[in-house]
Amino acid sequence: MKKDYLSLTILEIHDALVNKEVTPLELTLEALKRAKENNDNAFEIILEEEAINKAKSLEGKEVPKDKLMFGIPYAAKDNFSTKGIETTGGSDILNGYVPLFDATVIKYLNEQDAILIGKTTLDELAMGGTGTSGHKGIQYNPYDLTHNHLIGGSSSGSAISVASAIVPFALGSDTGDSVRKPASFGGLVGFKPTWGLISRFGLFPFAPSLDHVAYFTRSIDDASSMLDILAKYDENDSTNTYHKRPETYLSYDGNVKGKKIAVIKEIIDSIKDKDLLNSFNKSIEELRNDGAVVDFVSMDSNLLKAIYPAYIVISSSEATSNNANLDGIKFGPNYGGNTYEEVMFNARTKGFSNLIKRRFVLGSYALMSENQEEVFLKAQKIRRLIVEATNSILKEYDAIYALASPTTAPKFNESSDKLSSTYLIADNWLGIGNFGGYPSVTLPIGFKDGLPFGANLTSKPFDEINMFNIAKSIENHTNLKNVSTLNYKK
Ligand code: GLN
Repeated sequence: MKKDYLSLTILEIHDALVNKEVTPLELTLEALKRAKENNDNAFEIILEEEAINKAKSLEGKEVPKDKLMFGIPYAAKDNFSTKGIETTGGSDILNGYVPLFDATVIKYLNEQDAILIGKTTLDELAMGGTGTSGHKGIQYNPYDLTHNHLIGGSSSGSAISVASAIVPFALGSDTGDSVRKPASFGGLVGFKPTWGLISRFGLFPFAPSLDHVAYFTRSIDDASSMLDILAKYDENDSTNTYHKRPETYLSYDGNVKGKKIAVIKEIIDSIKDKDLLNSFNKSIEELRNDGAVVDFVSMDSNLLKAIYPAYIVISSSEATSNNANLDGIKFGPNYGGNTYEEVMFNARTKGFSNLIKRRFVLGSYALMSENQEEVFLKAQKIRRLIVEATNSILKEYDAIYALASPTTAPKFNESSDKLSSTYLIADNWLGIGNFGGYPSVTLPIGFKDGLPFGANLTSKPFDEINMFNIAKSIENHTNLKNVSTLNYKK
């Protein structure tokens, strides 16, 4: 390729394709080359033959007006069903599972003639946040060539593939923060929409009351234009909302005059890193200079501290119930046994890692009839209180704004998915977005010691355009639009 087109945004690559500066095949061959050279363990499977065939079928064709994604390579987390392509969710229990249908979002992207070049690595069954628990081993932060820092999870491979400019966008899923947290560690835009806006048909369920299709891009405009394609109503998903979609989500100008933004004091107070706080405060000043009102508001810190415990109880309970079909008979390898219980016992003992087992034990405990009221229902009540407290802030404000993570990407030995009090609030506050199904977007605001970090905006349900508008204004000041490992200058 004459120029590094994969380091451009989706909108720019689209223009280059329209102007015939580059072809789908050239883009695809380069993306495949980068995918194969990647040594951060981003891919479960690289779809070389399929991608090349698809790209060849597009050669010489005019780019249709309604196909923004035409000829553009992308990657998808390996918990999206792909017809005829092994899909394991990063778990040994699904080794060899080949879905008979495409997830709706994969179908929409196929209809656009986007080119799927690979399925990406993840924490097993999307549970976890470190990129260390999937059956393909550890994923590494591409900004650290010494492989000491994690990229975060669970959508780890997708984050790597966009941060390393292998592809300009990648699909992930977000149940607690699984796109928005790795986005912060990877210098990316990580977006999840209002719950129910994008069809989840064909996405492996983890905790459906919290699950969202989400994705990584390298610009706010790319995130909003992708929503035009993915947010269409789908009757295959009974939780997909009837709410009317706008003509286009790409209809804002970054003007924040009069916008009201809330910063929850208790979240920021719990963060210790001066450099991250300085960048965050600087971005508040920029928003104010642009005419936004930014207020520090308060939320009961007991509620904020309860986000993670409530999340882990609710998500583990839902996960336990949803994954009951991975029993070595309906799904998964049959390791033998004389009774159903024995077959299931063998399959689940061999098929799952310790992290998953721990969560299933927790979920089963919370769902036992004698514990339900004390554990499961209590967590649900806490969730309701957190949502009510958030709603009362969002009644007055256009968005809640905070650092997406209290630190840059941690080192491998500094992070686990167990409860820790170090950053109980700042490390888990993004879960609010899943509790209330709010649209939420992370975008990069700075680098420290060569590693990126991001901030997050969370808004009212169906208020995506307003949220993108504020995000755009932040992006305009950062100089980090479309940053990747290939163009970042230390
Ligand atoms: N890190 C969270 C967890 O451990 C979030 C996972 C997710 O969003 N899929 O469950």
